[in-house]
Amino acid sequence: MTVLVTGGAGFIGSHLVDYLLGETTDRIVVLDDFSTGSADNLVHLETDRLTVEDGDVRNADLIADLVSDADAVYHLAAAVGVQTIVENPLSSLRTNLEGTENVLEAATADGTPTFLASSSEIYGKSEAVPFAETDDRVYGPTSTTRWSYATAKAADEFLAFAYHDEHDLPVVVGRYFNIVGPRQTGQYGMVIPTFVEQALAGEDLTVYGDGTQTRSFTHVADAVSITHELLDTPAAHGEVVNVGAPDPTSINDLAEAVIDRTDSDSVITHVPFEEAYGPDFEEPDQREPDVTKLREILGWAPEADLDRILHDVIHERTDGEQPTGQAPDEEVTTQ
Ligand code: NAD
Repeated sequence: MTVLVTGGAGFIGSHLVDYLLGETTDRIVVLDDFSTGSADNLVHLETDRLTVEDGDVRNADLIADLVSDADAVYHLAAAVGVQTIVENPLSSLRTNLEGTENVLEAATADGTPTFLASSSEIYGKSEAVPFAETDDRVYGPTSTTRWSYATAKAADEFLAFAYHDEHDLPVVVGRYFNIVGPRQTGQYGMVIPTFVEQALAGEDLTVYGDGTQTRSFTHVADAVSITHELLDTPAAHGEVVNVGAPDPTSINDLAEAVIDRTDSDSVITHVPFEEAYGPDFEEPDQREPDVTKLREILGWAPEADLDRILHDVIHERTDGEQPTGQAPDEEVTTQ
């Protein structure tokens, strides 16, 4: 079996490659343009079962070629992170729209099972937490660039359903909710790696807004096994499913937990969103998945496990020398 992972040099993609190599997958092809991903994420995998292609998902011929050799496709390549979207609106839109259409169109030729990575950003600034897959989406105006990411991901979902309904493409959409863990970089504004790096350097932890906004964090190990299981489950094809752990944490509590676990002297400073992202920036207050559908389809859903997440993220930045010593007692919770 040959599997194509677009965005496989990225954070979630590289963990998925690790996971699939541990399964029975014979051969994995990674396509990545290394814009936010890195070869370092795959460097530990010295195996002739892995091929890495440096290329762009917007290249339809290349995608057609790679998909035609694959028995399954995981489409994770995307322009991600609020900072990337705000700073590069046009190329982000093109990657997130054209790239997905290229993958779906190519997969249709042989009916290749395809997983499409979507996002909790889909729900926009809806306040109807927890978010169920059938809930309304609430977005700001098109003059506010940050909503272009949610809009492009929503169009991707429409495309996936259209290819499923009109061409019988076995495609499943996973809406990821703040997936976190080792290898995630703070470079593009992701909160946990940013806080951990600030705390370890003894710098102030910059909390945007008043810090009462909440997010549900999910360990990447859970996210990749769900990703694989969803594609492997025919009942999930043609469906969109939230992928996340319920039980949200406020950003203030997260910052305090990071300071505590790193034994840092850092303090928290609050910075207005407008100062960081410009005057029209909008940030949703709450993000929490309703995982009823995930449970119905797979029989399980992840649980929030901030302790384990922080342990793993701090561990990789301190070469295993945890400032506060102890690893959490339990393994990553997957039930
Ligand atoms: P990431 O930036 O680490 O991964 C994205 C990968 O896509 C990178 O390796 C990047 O180099 C690659 N890429 C970008 N543009 C490309 C292009 N034009 N051609 C080829 N490759 C390209 O981010 P991630 O967090 O691993 O995200 C993976 C997927 O999950 C994305 O589709 C993202 O939208 C989605 N997602 C992630 C989260 C999260 O919490 N991490 C939440 C919601 C959705």
